[in-house]
Amino acid sequence: MALTVHQTYLTQNDCYRSGGALTPQGLMLHSVGCAQPDAMAFVQSWNQPGVKACVHGFIDANTGAVYQTLPWTCRGWHGGGSSNNTHIGVEMCEPASIRYTSGANFLDQDPAATEAAVLRTYGTAVDLFAQLCRTFSLDPLGDGVILSHREGHQRGIATNHGDPEHLWSPFGLTMDIFRQAVSAALTGQAAAPASPAVPFLGRVTADALHIRSGPGTNCPIVGTIRDQGVYTIVETADGQGDSQWGKLKSGAGWIALDYVTPQ
Ligand SMILES: [Zn+2]
Repeated sequence: MALTVHQTYLTQNDCYRSGGALTPQGLMLHSVGCAQPDAMAFVQSWNQPGVKACVHGFIDANTGAVYQTLPWTCRGWHGGGSSNNTHIGVEMCEPASIRYTSGANFLDQDPAATEAAVLRTYGTAVDLFAQLCRTFSLDPLGDGVILSHREGHQRGIATNHGDPEHLWSPFGLTMDIFRQAVSAALTGQAAAPASPAVPFLGRVTADALHIRSGPGTNCPIVGTIRDQGVYTIVETADGQGDSQWGKLKSGAGWIALDYVTPQ
Protein backbone atom coordinates (compact mmCIF):
# COMPACT_ATOMS: atom_id res chain seq x y z
CA MET A 1 0.00 0.00 0.00
CA ALA A 2 1.26 3.47 -0.80
CA LEU A 3 2.19 5.53 2.21
CA THR A 4 0.90 9.12 2.39
CA VAL A 5 2.99 11.32 4.70
CA HIS A 6 2.00 14.92 5.41
CA GLN A 7 4.69 17.04 7.04
CA THR A 8 3.01 18.93 9.88
CA TYR A 9 5.87 19.66 12.28
CA LEU A 10 4.85 20.96 15.69
CA THR A 11 7.08 24.00 15.48
CA GLN A 12 5.54 25.61 18.59
CA ASN A 13 5.82 22.46 20.74
CA ASP A 14 8.50 22.34 23.46
CA CYS A 15 10.08 19.16 22.05
CA TYR A 16 10.53 20.68 18.63
CA ARG A 17 11.82 23.96 20.04
CA SER A 18 14.32 22.35 22.42
CA GLY A 19 15.75 20.52 19.41
CA GLY A 20 17.08 17.47 21.26
CA ALA A 21 18.70 14.87 19.03
CA LEU A 22 17.62 11.26 18.68
CA THR A 23 19.58 8.42 17.13
CA PRO A 24 16.71 5.99 16.54
CA GLN A 25 17.40 2.55 17.99
CA GLY A 26 13.79 1.45 17.92
CA LEU A 27 10.18 2.33 17.18
CA MET A 28 7.36 2.57 19.71
CA LEU A 29 3.74 2.19 18.67
CA HIS A 30 0.98 4.00 20.52
CA SER A 31 -2.76 4.42 20.27
CA VAL A 32 -4.20 7.77 21.33
CA GLY A 33 -6.58 6.40 23.97
CA CYS A 34 -9.57 8.51 22.99
CA ALA A 35 -12.18 8.23 20.26
CA GLN A 36 -10.65 10.84 17.97
CA PRO A 37 -9.96 9.61 14.43
CA ASP A 38 -8.71 12.94 13.08
CA ALA A 39 -4.92 13.34 13.22
CA MET A 40 -5.16 17.07 12.59
CA ALA A 41 -7.06 17.49 15.88
CA PHE A 42 -3.91 16.33 17.70
CA VAL A 43 -1.59 18.32 15.46
CA GLN A 44 -3.50 21.48 16.35
CA SER A 45 -3.81 20.88 20.09
CA TRP A 46 -0.18 19.80 20.53
CA ASN A 47 1.34 22.58 18.45
CA GLN A 48 1.74 25.12 21.21
CA PRO A 49 4.26 26.17 23.84
CA GLY A 50 3.93 24.41 27.18
CA VAL A 51 2.94 21.08 25.64
CA LYS A 52 5.65 18.72 26.82
CA ALA A 53 4.42 15.54 25.16
CA CYS A 54 5.34 14.99 21.56
CA VAL A 55 5.39 12.07 19.17
CA HIS A 56 6.94 11.81 15.73
CA GLY A 57 3.70 11.20 13.93
CA PHE A 58 -0.01 10.43 14.02
CA ILE A 59 -1.86 8.01 11.76
CA ASP A 60 -5.31 9.27 10.79
CA ALA A 61 -8.03 6.67 11.41
CA ASN A 62 -10.29 7.96 8.63
CA THR A 63 -7.75 8.09 5.82
CA GLY A 64 -4.74 6.07 7.00
CA ALA A 65 -2.46 9.01 6.16
CA VAL A 66 0.57 9.81 8.31
CA TYR A 67 0.99 13.28 9.80
CA GLN A 68 4.66 13.62 10.70
CA THR A 69 4.94 15.98 13.67
CA LEU A 70 8.67 15.84 14.50
CA PRO A 71 11.75 15.09 12.39
CA TRP A 72 12.54 11.40 12.97
CA THR A 73 15.92 12.35 14.48
CA CYS A 74 14.48 14.83 16.99
CA ARG A 75 13.97 13.53 20.53
CA GLY A 76 10.28 13.15 21.41
CA TRP A 77 8.40 12.67 24.67
CA HIS A 78 5.97 9.81 24.18
CA GLY A 79 6.97 6.84 26.31
CA GLY A 80 7.43 8.78 29.50
CA GLY A 81 10.62 6.88 30.39
CA SER A 82 14.02 6.19 28.90
CA SER A 83 12.35 5.04 25.67
CA ASN A 84 12.17 8.73 24.74
CA ASN A 85 15.97 8.62 24.34
CA THR A 86 15.98 5.65 21.99
CA HIS A 87 12.65 5.21 20.22
CA ILE A 88 10.69 7.04 17.57
CA GLY A 89 7.07 7.30 18.77
CA VAL A 90 4.04 7.00 16.52
CA GLU A 91 0.40 7.33 17.59
CA MET A 92 -2.51 5.66 15.83
CA CYS A 93 -5.76 7.63 16.03
CA GLU A 94 -8.83 5.72 17.15
CA PRO A 95 -12.29 5.29 15.62
CA ALA A 96 -15.16 7.58 16.56
CA SER A 97 -17.31 4.46 16.94
CA ILE A 98 -15.98 3.51 20.38
CA ARG A 99 -16.80 5.05 23.73
CA TYR A 100 -14.43 4.70 26.67
CA THR A 101 -16.08 3.68 29.93
CA SER A 102 -13.19 3.41 32.40
CA GLY A 103 -9.45 3.13 31.86
CA ALA A 104 -8.76 1.11 28.72
CA ASN A 105 -12.29 -0.34 28.65
CA PHE A 106 -14.62 0.80 25.91
CA LEU A 107 -17.97 0.07 24.32
CA ASP A 108 -17.91 -0.66 20.61
CA GLN A 109 -20.93 1.07 19.11
CA ASP A 110 -20.26 0.01 15.51
CA PRO A 111 -17.99 -3.05 15.34
CA ALA A 112 -17.70 -2.99 11.53
CA ALA A 113 -16.62 0.66 11.48
CA THR A 114 -14.28 0.11 14.41
CA GLU A 115 -12.63 -2.86 12.73
CA ALA A 116 -12.22 -0.94 9.46
CA ALA A 117 -10.50 1.95 11.26
CA VAL A 118 -8.30 -0.33 13.37
CA LEU A 119 -7.16 -2.29 10.32
CA ARG A 120 -6.57 0.94 8.40
CA THR A 121 -4.24 2.42 11.04
CA TYR A 122 -2.61 -0.98 11.57
CA GLY A 123 -1.87 -1.26 7.84
CA THR A 124 -0.31 2.19 7.71
CA ALA A 125 1.74 1.46 10.83
CA VAL A 126 3.12 -1.69 9.18
CA ASP A 127 4.19 0.23 6.09
CA LEU A 128 5.56 3.21 8.04
CA PHE A 129 7.55 1.04 10.46
CA ALA A 130 8.96 -0.96 7.54
CA GLN A 131 10.08 2.27 5.90
CA LEU A 132 11.64 3.54 9.14
CA CYS A 133 13.42 0.21 9.69
CA ARG A 134 14.90 0.59 6.23
CA THR A 135 15.90 4.24 6.79
CA PHE A 136 17.57 3.62 10.15
CA SER A 137 18.83 0.06 9.51
CA LEU A 138 16.69 -1.45 12.26
CA ASP A 139 15.81 -5.14 12.53
CA PRO A 140 12.02 -5.31 13.00
CA LEU A 141 12.34 -8.66 14.78
CA GLY A 142 15.29 -7.60 16.95
CA ASP A 143 14.85 -7.65 20.72
CA GLY A 144 13.35 -4.39 21.96
CA VAL A 145 13.43 -2.72 18.54
CA ILE A 146 9.70 -2.52 17.80
CA LEU A 147 7.68 -2.15 20.98
CA SER A 148 4.22 -1.08 21.98
CA HIS A 149 3.86 1.44 24.78
CA ARG A 150 2.53 -1.47 26.85
CA GLU A 151 5.63 -3.58 26.16
CA GLY A 152 7.82 -0.57 26.95
CA HIS A 153 6.25 -0.46 30.39
CA GLN A 154 6.85 -4.18 30.88
CA ARG A 155 10.53 -3.53 30.15
CA GLY A 156 10.66 -0.60 32.55
CA ILE A 157 11.31 2.03 29.88
CA ALA A 158 7.83 3.57 29.57
CA THR A 159 4.89 4.61 31.71
CA ASN A 160 2.05 2.26 32.62
CA HIS A 161 -0.20 2.34 29.56
CA GLY A 162 -1.91 -0.50 27.72
CA ASP A 163 -1.81 0.86 24.18
CA PRO A 164 -2.32 -0.20 21.51
CA GLU A 165 -3.08 -3.80 22.50
CA HIS A 166 -6.20 -2.70 24.40
CA LEU A 167 -7.75 -1.68 21.08
CA TRP A 168 -6.29 -4.52 19.00
CA SER A 169 -7.22 -7.53 21.10
CA PRO A 170 -10.90 -7.74 20.00
CA PHE A 171 -9.65 -8.02 16.40
CA GLY A 172 -7.00 -10.66 17.00
CA LEU A 173 -4.05 -8.35 16.43
CA THR A 174 -0.91 -8.63 18.55
CA MET A 175 2.51 -7.00 18.57
CA ASP A 176 4.06 -10.30 17.44
CA ILE A 177 1.76 -10.34 14.40
CA PHE A 178 2.62 -6.69 13.81
CA ARG A 179 6.39 -7.27 13.94
CA GLN A 180 6.08 -10.20 11.53
CA ALA A 181 4.04 -8.01 9.16
CA VAL A 182 6.66 -5.23 9.32
CA SER A 183 9.36 -7.77 8.58
CA ALA A 184 7.37 -9.12 5.62
CA ALA A 185 6.72 -5.59 4.34
CA LEU A 186 10.42 -4.75 4.62
CA THR A 187 11.29 -7.80 2.54
CA GLY A 188 8.45 -6.97 0.15
CA GLN A 189 9.70 -3.41 -0.30
CA ALA A 190 12.90 -4.83 -1.71
CA ALA A 191 11.08 -6.98 -4.27
CA ALA A 192 8.31 -5.28 -6.24
CA PRO A 193 5.40 -5.63 -6.43
CA ALA A 194 4.82 -5.60 -2.71
CA SER A 195 1.71 -7.34 -1.50
CA PRO A 196 -0.21 -5.61 1.28
CA ALA A 197 0.36 -6.77 4.84
CA VAL A 198 -2.50 -8.89 6.13
CA PRO A 199 -5.05 -8.36 7.39
CA PHE A 200 -6.17 -5.60 5.02
CA LEU A 201 -9.40 -4.22 3.60
CA GLY A 202 -9.97 -4.47 -0.13
CA ARG A 203 -12.74 -3.34 -2.44
CA VAL A 204 -13.87 -5.81 -5.09
CA THR A 205 -13.68 -4.17 -8.53
CA ALA A 206 -15.29 -6.92 -10.62
CA ASP A 207 -19.07 -7.10 -11.23
CA ALA A 208 -18.99 -10.75 -10.29
CA LEU A 209 -16.01 -12.32 -8.57
CA HIS A 210 -15.92 -16.04 -7.87
CA ILE A 211 -15.12 -17.26 -4.40
CA ARG A 212 -13.11 -20.47 -4.51
CA SER A 213 -12.48 -23.06 -1.86
CA GLY A 214 -8.73 -22.53 -2.14
CA PRO A 215 -6.13 -20.19 -3.71
CA GLY A 216 -6.35 -20.97 -7.43
CA THR A 217 -8.67 -21.42 -10.40
CA ASN A 218 -8.08 -25.15 -9.96
CA CYS A 219 -10.14 -24.98 -6.75
CA PRO A 220 -13.94 -25.32 -6.91
CA ILE A 221 -16.17 -22.22 -7.06
CA VAL A 222 -18.12 -21.97 -3.82
CA GLY A 223 -19.78 -18.57 -4.26
CA THR A 224 -19.78 -15.22 -6.05
CA ILE A 225 -19.35 -11.64 -4.81
CA ARG A 226 -21.61 -9.22 -6.72
CA ASP A 227 -21.78 -6.16 -4.46
CA GLN A 228 -18.33 -4.66 -5.23
CA GLY A 229 -18.07 -4.31 -1.47
CA VAL A 230 -15.15 -4.00 0.93
CA TYR A 231 -13.86 -7.26 2.39
CA THR A 232 -11.22 -8.18 4.94
CA ILE A 233 -8.40 -10.32 3.57
CA VAL A 234 -6.68 -12.29 6.31
CA GLU A 235 -4.15 -14.30 4.31
CA THR A 236 -2.56 -14.18 0.86
CA ALA A 237 -1.14 -16.97 -1.26
CA ASP A 238 0.18 -17.69 -4.74
CA GLY A 239 -2.04 -19.84 -6.91
CA GLN A 240 -3.09 -20.78 -10.40
CA GLY A 241 -4.87 -18.22 -12.61
CA ASP A 242 -4.08 -14.95 -10.79
CA SER A 243 -1.01 -13.14 -9.53
CA GLN A 244 -2.19 -13.56 -5.95
CA TRP A 245 -5.12 -14.89 -3.95
CA GLY A 246 -6.68 -13.58 -0.77
CA LYS A 247 -8.56 -15.47 1.92
CA LEU A 248 -11.81 -13.88 3.10
CA LYS A 249 -12.12 -13.28 6.80
CA SER A 250 -15.65 -14.72 6.76
CA GLY A 251 -14.20 -18.11 5.93
CA ALA A 252 -16.25 -18.23 2.69
CA GLY A 253 -13.13 -18.96 0.65
CA TRP A 254 -10.51 -17.28 -1.56
CA ILE A 255 -10.74 -14.53 -4.19
CA ALA A 256 -8.38 -13.32 -6.93
CA LEU A 257 -6.60 -10.17 -5.74
CA ASP A 258 -6.19 -8.77 -9.26
CA TYR A 259 -9.83 -7.69 -8.80
CA VAL A 260 -9.38 -6.22 -5.32
CA THR A 261 -8.10 -2.71 -4.53
CA PRO A 262 -6.61 -2.25 -1.05
CA GLN A 263 -8.43 0.50 0.87
ZN1 LIG B 1 1.12 5.43 24.46
